[in-house]
Amino acid sequence: MISKLSTLFVRTLRDDPADAEVPSHRWLVRAGYIRRAAPGIYSWLPLGLKVLQKVERIVREEMDAIGAQEVSFPALLPREPYEETGRWNEYGDLLFRLKDRRQADLLLGPTHEEMFTLLVKDLYSSYKDLPISLYQIQTKYRDEARPRAGLLRGREFIMKDSYSFDIDEAGLEQSYQLHRQAYQRIFERLGLDYVIVSAMAGAMGGSRSEEFLAVADNGEDTFVRSAGGYAANVEAVRFAAPEALPIADAPAMAEVATPNAGTIAGVVEILNRDVPLADRAWTGADTLKNVLFKVTEPDGRVRALAVGLPGDREVDVKRLTAALEPAEAEPFTADDFAAYSDLVGGYISPVSLDGTRVLGKESTTRIEYLTDPRVAEGTYWATGANRPDTHLTGVTVGRDFTPDGVIDVAEVREGDPAPDGSGPLTLARGIEMGHIFQLGRKYAEALGLKVLDRNGKLVTVTMGSYGVGVSRAVAAVAEATCDDKGLSWPLALAPYQVQLLATGKDASVFEEAERIAGELSQQGLDVLYDDRKASPGVKFADSEIMGMPLIVVVGRGLADGKVELRIRSTGEKREIAVADAVAEVL
Ligand code: ATP
Ligand code: MG
Ligand code: MG
Ligand code: MG
Repeated sequence: MISKLSTLFVRTLRDDPADAEVPSHRWLVRAGYIRRAAPGIYSWLPLGLKVLQKVERIVREEMDAIGAQEVSFPALLPREPYEETGRWNEYGDLLFRLKDRRQADLLLGPTHEEMFTLLVKDLYSSYKDLPISLYQIQTKYRDEARPRAGLLRGREFIMKDSYSFDIDEAGLEQSYQLHRQAYQRIFERLGLDYVIVSAMAGAMGGSRSEEFLAVADNGEDTFVRSAGGYAANVEAVRFAAPEALPIADAPAMAEVATPNAGTIAGVVEILNRDVPLADRAWTGADTLKNVLFKVTEPDGRVRALAVGLPGDREVDVKRLTAALEPAEAEPFTADDFAAYSDLVGGYISPVSLDGTRVLGKESTTRIEYLTDPRVAEGTYWATGANRPDTHLTGVTVGRDFTPDGVIDVAEVREGDPAPDGSGPLTLARGIEMGHIFQLGRKYAEALGLKVLDRNGKLVTVTMGSYGVGVSRAVAAVAEATCDDKGLSWPLALAPYQVQLLATGKDASVFEEAERIAGELSQQGLDVLYDDRKASPGVKFADSEIMGMPLIVVVGRGLADGKVELRIRSTGEKREIAVADAVAEVL
């Protein structure tokens, strides 16, 4: 294919965009690949779109290769399924919510677990239908607090998201491994220097999550690795740290029912950390202590409950346990809640799983919490979370504690030993390119996705979800390959493999250039032919900004039967015979 630069819809810019924080952003805009429509929202111009499509193609091929099937969901979605799973609220400000003319609530999908779960529920009913993996390459919306670095963190962006459905853990593990291998191939084909790091496993014990990070100084994620092959997101290091405090030698307790009908299996840990309180008034103490309870829900899942106590008080485990006995009344009433809080002598509030937000401001919301098992899923209580002057703001399960032990939340430092004993850790930064996750039954349970098993018994399906940042990948590759002159694409992703420059005014130069372009194109190469009546300086500069991997210059040397071949990435130049030009480029 040949495109002529004289008519291609592109203009290179001399100045950096004002908001450019990283080189990839600067060059993608200046080279005419993308244009900003609004903060974190970009339009794709012909050159950018070609790269995007090449990334999509690689992703698609690798997903198809593991037997995943492509579907496509709308971005505009109904509220109800997200309400069912609690995410309508949990997402907080990240979610774009809107109303239609009948005042019905809608959202712009940030990710599609709910919709895929419901689709499979609609159509499938037997273990014989499983396993199945479905995927889409689709536009996502997240109202990011800080859209940044162009395509790297957009508010509208393109993600490949896939979802696996299996009857049992062994099946899930297999689907997960298939995706993991597909992701390795994808990121290799994209030419990214990447690491696979363990990420926070999140709510469910035993569930597994890994991130694919492109190593990049401008990345927002910090990870650690050891020479011995250990690699983890810093959050996960805390999760996996062997120095995790052991379960406290608190007395084993009889199982006690919790307000949402779970049982307290025991005190997980009494944190020996007294946290200063700015406001003495509400507890009458200067500090606050935490007690974490391990709660086993009726369905067997383990959760944790944090209760804050005035720090000057002896922690009386028996008294606390008694305080947590269920209210007799059903449902749990406002009075019950007050009594509960009073008895504990502390302050309890639910926070979102990522620990950044308190869910609900009033006690009534908390009561819903205590009685609504859906909301409780993936959600934990922390003390004083809505009081910045207290502590445990941002309690995160997995990071701050696991169902089996409490983890020291201290920062990981360079030189710390790797948890698996594989040597000292070094810190580095990366861009999250992909995230694979064993979800387990969270969504299937919330939305009732069950199938009949071999014995005719209804069982809940277990799921995985797997994301690749497709538009982010365009920027990440640009970031890894660009230099101080502009973009520099690898052959696999370049909009055109060859940029052919005709320099000078001689008509024969343009004729010869056109002929070479035709031949290259016939050999299957995509050629961007700079046929403009511009100075060689402009053409060279543009070719450097635009970043095609091979540059062929047809100009002065033509009289001696020579053209010049340049390699964009290395800057290497050599004169070659016109007759050899096509063979050399190939
Ligand atoms: P991040 O930590 O960078 O915010 P995330 O963990 O919120 O990402 P996931 O929910 O795991 O993202 O989504 C899967 C993939 O989608 C990510 O690995 C990333 O490549 C991509 N992605 C997420 N948010 C954005 C965004 N705002 N802009 C572009 N790509 C994104
Ligand atoms: Mg995010
Ligand atoms: Mg992340
Ligand atoms: Mg992620």
